[in-house]
Amino acid sequence: MAKEENKKPQEEQINQLQDWRKKIDDQVKQDLKDYFQERDYVVMAVPKEEPLRVWAVRATNTVRTAQRIHNLSPMAAAVMGRAIVGAILLSSLIKHGTNQKIALKIEGDGPIGYVYVEVDGKGRVRGMVKNPDVPLLTKEVNGKKKLDIAAAIGNGTLTVIKDLGMGKPYVGVVPLVSGEIAQDIAYYLAQSEQIPSAVGIGVKLDENGQIKVAGGWMVQEMGGTSEKALKVIEEAVQKLPPVSELLEQGKRPEDIALMIIPEELNPHLLGLKEIEYYCPCNEDMVKGVVAGLPQEEIDEIFKDNEYLEVKCHFCGKIYRYTKQEVDKIKEEAKQQMEQNKKDGETENGKDNPT
Ligand SMILES: [Zn+2]
Repeated sequence: MAKEENKKPQEEQINQLQDWRKKIDDQVKQDLKDYFQERDYVVMAVPKEEPLRVWAVRATNTVRTAQRIHNLSPMAAAVMGRAIVGAILLSSLIKHGTNQKIALKIEGDGPIGYVYVEVDGKGRVRGMVKNPDVPLLTKEVNGKKKLDIAAAIGNGTLTVIKDLGMGKPYVGVVPLVSGEIAQDIAYYLAQSEQIPSAVGIGVKLDENGQIKVAGGWMVQEMGGTSEKALKVIEEAVQKLPPVSELLEQGKRPEDIALMIIPEELNPHLLGLKEIEYYCPCNEDMVKGVVAGLPQEEIDEIFKDNEYLEVKCHFCGKIYRYTKQEVDKIKEEAKQQMEQNKKDGETENGKDNPT
């Protein structure tokens, strides 16, 4: 009797606690919506007691910007869009909020040549593609016409370059196993990082060949997840509709992440990061390039042109210099080099008194 009486308030407490948790989660979702609105971002969610992580990203605006900057054909936009989402998911391997960088290069014998995308720890994305004019390539899947991403890329390799800001970057290369990018990234994570993963990426074009939605998700198993949890997640992933469909329905990254970690695993939203297309190129970097040009090449350019133009491959920005300005850049670089040499000599002198 006494036991019964004790049990009831306890159950009530648990129920209250769950209600309270639910309210907080709903509030978190509302806050995310209010804060990010239609901007791009990535969220991370984890089950309460399992070493498993889920990321979900919406990158529609970022891919649209890439399409505009590089004047991408619909096909090229679809391929680059997938690579952009893939690189954002891979940025889970670098430290959040830092200048660490991860680059993804997919190169094959298909008509696109290669696509290259960089993401830093602050969610800044930039990229380029060899052939931005690739014509539309389609295939039929279950009677439906679909973009043939693998045909645009062809046979080749996937390279990941991790620059952790500690000297030499780490480079990992794997052969392409599907050419559709999502599966290739999962293969890379398993082979090179020893992280069993599942990856889904979706990019959809509108009737004018412009990006309609772009996004993706990734599950990483960090070792030691229970059989039961793995089964639940596997089933959730199998049931998950294509990510482009979810985004079209207005689902947000946190919605997708929480579809992958069902309620019974007690999901928690942990990290988040805004994503945008941003190129940090600037005058100083370009001056460095100009200073390194051989004088004969510079003379050749000014034979027929009033300006020397340098175009950034990542953002299309054009930097322009007159002959006088180029001479000045060269002269300054020369002086700087001599100064460095002198500094080096004195430093060496201090370090090695012999
Ligand atoms: Zn740039």
